[in-house]
Amino acid sequence: MATHKLLLLPGDGIGPEVMAEVVRLIDWIDAQGIAHFTTESGLVGGAAYDADQLPITDATMARAEAADAIIFGAVGGPKWDSVPYEHRPEAGLLRLRKDLGLFANLRPAVCYPALAESSSLKREVVEGLDIMIVRELTGGVYFGEPKTITDLGNGQKRGIDTQIYDTYEIERIARVAFDLARKRGNKVTSMEKHNVMKSGVLWKEVVTQVHGREYTDVKLEHQLADSGGMQLVKWPKQFDVIVTDNLFGDLLSDIAAMLTGSLGMLPSASLGEVNANTGKRKAMYEPVHGSAPDIAGQGKANPLAMIASFGMALRYSLELGDLADKVDQAMAAVLAKGLRTADVMSDGMTAVSTSQMGEAVLTELKALHA
Ligand code: NAD
Repeated sequence: MATHKLLLLPGDGIGPEVMAEVVRLIDWIDAQGIAHFTTESGLVGGAAYDADQLPITDATMARAEAADAIIFGAVGGPKWDSVPYEHRPEAGLLRLRKDLGLFANLRPAVCYPALAESSSLKREVVEGLDIMIVRELTGGVYFGEPKTITDLGNGQKRGIDTQIYDTYEIERIARVAFDLARKRGNKVTSMEKHNVMKSGVLWKEVVTQVHGREYTDVKLEHQLADSGGMQLVKWPKQFDVIVTDNLFGDLLSDIAAMLTGSLGMLPSASLGEVNANTGKRKAMYEPVHGSAPDIAGQGKANPLAMIASFGMALRYSLELGDLADKVDQAMAAVLAKGLRTADVMSDGMTAVSTSQMGEAVLTELKALHA
């Protein structure tokens, strides 16, 4: 049986608290011999700055390069508000994404039946929702040059951001989306703004070409990103996989996320290129939420986004899809039994702490393996 090499980077605030609940699962899975892991831990963000005056060290980066999967908590907090900009906690996260070439951001939006009431939309619109947003993460308008503010000398300034996409960037993100769709509902919706943006014209053209060349078995639809946003809140269940650029993906994934209730429930994955020699790809898994300094250290954090992120690592990096299914089932069972952390609490439910929630997920996982 393969041994999977994990690098755990808990980070700051509630990061270490929610990571402890993943470690609980890892230890049990390993002890049972269901899968084998070697785990290392490292510092990132404010914790790394306190120790080394850097948001991540070269030594930790080297361990990240060597890991089969990186499991990341969250970084940041008021304690580090005044550190130099280039050493701010978020710079550690950005370096990981950049140096590891993590160009594909996967954000599932799953609505557990037990939590359908937490959504701002009607139960029938969101119950059973299961969509995947694939966002291009390393290109587009957030990185394109020129990126400047120029003084025009007449009392006016001009701010410029530049949206750039090359064919290869669109091809590789499209492939991630089509490959995922094959393992899910077999449908991809590509979103751009080809009506007003040249990069949108190219995006649509390249996605269509990749589909025609390599993925004719998958259903492909195109939507303008603005109307896609409307459709997401009108009838989100029409979607399976949505693929889109960095900017639209940022917005659309946040909209999709809120369909499902709380930030404490949302996992994500960031994937790099497949290495032609090993067949493996660099990958980092992290909850969508931040370090939540307002509740840190109080046992109030919901660990389910972190646990679901670990589940994504099992599925997308470690080829342990059956185990990932069981982790998902265990979380759904705990929610169905009425256990809730404060962020998703509602009338008649049982309030639990971070560790009680983690313990309950493990109890369900044990039952599923009994
Ligand atoms: P946040 O996600 O940390 O918190 C927003 C709100 O959601 C808070 O009220 C918080 O208590 C709640 N919340 C978040 N996660 C929760 C969980 N698991 N369980 C229960 N409640 C939860 O966002 P913020 O307050 O804007 O940012 C706080 C810090 O986190 C900042 O320093 C920010 O820069 C950083 N941040 C980091 C990341 C990351 O590491 N990927 C992402 C976003 C924000």
